[in-house]
Amino acid sequence: MTTGYVYERVFHKHNWPDHPENARRLSAVMDYLSSHDILPRLVHIPSREAKINELQLCHHPLYIEMVEDTCRFGGGMLDADTYTNKFSFEAAAHAAGGLIDLSVAVVKGELDNGFALIRPPGHHAIPNRAMGFCLFGNTAIAARAAQYITGIERVAIVDFDVHHGNGTQAILEEDPTVMFVSSHQYPFYPGTGAIYQTGTGPAEGTKINLPLSVMMGDEDIKRLYGEVVFPLLRRFQPQLIIVSAGFDAHWDDPLANIGLTLTGYQWLVNSLIGLAGELCDGKIVFALEGGYNLQVLAPGVGNTFRALLGETDVDDPLGISPWVEPDVSSLLSQLKKIHAL
Ligand SMILES: [Zn+2]
Repeated sequence: MTTGYVYERVFHKHNWPDHPENARRLSAVMDYLSSHDILPRLVHIPSREAKINELQLCHHPLYIEMVEDTCRFGGGMLDADTYTNKFSFEAAAHAAGGLIDLSVAVVKGELDNGFALIRPPGHHAIPNRAMGFCLFGNTAIAARAAQYITGIERVAIVDFDVHHGNGTQAILEEDPTVMFVSSHQYPFYPGTGAIYQTGTGPAEGTKINLPLSVMMGDEDIKRLYGEVVFPLLRRFQPQLIIVSAGFDAHWDDPLANIGLTLTGYQWLVNSLIGLAGELCDGKIVFALEGGYNLQVLAPGVGNTFRALLGETDVDDPLGISPWVEPDVSSLLSQLKKIHAL
């Protein structure tokens, strides 16, 4: 297998040491990949700044200009949670540009698959506003750029970060060509992601929200993805799968209360890779979103690379969740009814 990764020093320069979304996250990931002999087996894909017209595939021109101007003058808060400094525009533009190039290389068959180790994350950024640590909607931008550049028609974005990918959904709300699946703690930040938010107009039915109750864990996730998400992906027949990979649904994450283990995460990652093999010649790309416990994030990313390389071993140093999983049957039957399964 040829597995690519995107990573640049500029992603460390967007930083606020006291904020949960800080540059130590990426340092922990890179240290893990080096010390576990994963990095030498990967192909580095250099990133570039996404062009303004690529950012405009998903964001308002005045918003892009505002972010650029704010950073040029030293940065500032764009909402209560979202900081910028003088390097943030450059980092965010590289995050989007790197994910575009990785996705295009995978669609063209120049790489088998890949993972973009990018910061800042993207899935909360809406068309005209930054939100929740995110400046630009990396996965939505990459999906549309890959469609434009390679001519593919259907892309699926699967978001297993513990927070609803409200930005990705807002950008793609009326777009029937991109399926968006999000599993997330609910109700929780950012407040969206209810089960009935299935897309509007021509996109009705292409947005799938799995609102998880606190303490739901590996077995609940297996049933939800196995009985709802995978059949819907088979129905949609994507030509590329992009994963918004957040590791904050782990039971020991400090920001949330979902009970996945790293072994559960690996089941999900392996299943999505297997589904890409079945549906789209293995074309799958992961993009880093959240994950705020570094003892979870680093092995979680490492395990994902192991799976992308075709290996079966899993590093799960923290083990099982201390919680009993609530029953998922009623959520499952509602989802099946709403999505006609
Ligand atoms: Zn998150």
